[in-house]
Amino acid sequence: ARKKLVAGNWKMNGNFDANEGLILGFLAEVDEQVDVSVFCPFPYLAQVGKLLEGQQVAFGSQDVSAKASGAYTGEVSVDMLNEFGVTQVLVGHSERRQYHAESSVTVAEKAVAAISGGITPIVCVGETLAEREAGRVEEVIADQLDPVVEQCAKFIENGVWNLVIAYEPVWAIGTGVTASPEQAQEVHAMIRARLNAMLGAEVAQSTRILYGGSVKPGNASEIFAKEDIDGGLIGGAALSSDDFSGIIRAA
Ligand code: 13P
Repeated sequence: ARKKLVAGNWKMNGNFDANEGLILGFLAEVDEQVDVSVFCPFPYLAQVGKLLEGQQVAFGSQDVSAKASGAYTGEVSVDMLNEFGVTQVLVGHSERRQYHAESSVTVAEKAVAAISGGITPIVCVGETLAEREAGRVEEVIADQLDPVVEQCAKFIENGVWNLVIAYEPVWAIGTGVTASPEQAQEVHAMIRARLNAMLGAEVAQSTRILYGGSVKPGNASEIFAKEDIDGGLIGGAALSSDDFSGIIRAA
């Protein structure tokens, strides 16, 4: 069985005080039943790492460079993240794709860089409302997923890879509109079927697929109850320790 993962994406929010209050506020909810991680802005990696020392909570950044080092102004490398004790990283979030023109090939290169450096990428995929209404969900997800699968397949060992997928329908992010558990399950099952076809049953069954988009304590348990939904990538509700605690409890 796949262990559930509840991941908090803080996006461009937080400050020293708020970060500390937030982490100290949900730590008590964390136990071995569920994996928990938080993704903070780069400047707070040291603070978050210190607060989480000895705790069973993973942490990381919301992006990483595909390049190892050099003349890439503004970029942060996998080696740098490793110096802070980062074990997971978000790649290909829809906000990176939208505002920073990240292509699926770039996203795949970032995932390769992360895995090569021993960091687990959480690769985000998801369609816009217009794409859903045009009946293009499967095509869009396949276009986003396939380069990642093709480039990262070489890291599979004994039917497992250090890679997590997050399905985040763009129309459900920060809108208060959640995909229904059935809508989400349908896409998660489609993603798993695609992994199965491309990489075989072992990888497909062991890969965690998170749902993201307006997850709250009140809707988390029915979403997480679905067969192919292995936890959540939480935005707004990850900024409140009460809400994040409630979602951890629901997993
Ligand atoms: P919300 O939970 O605020 O909808 O954000 C989801 C998200 O984008 C997490 O990465």
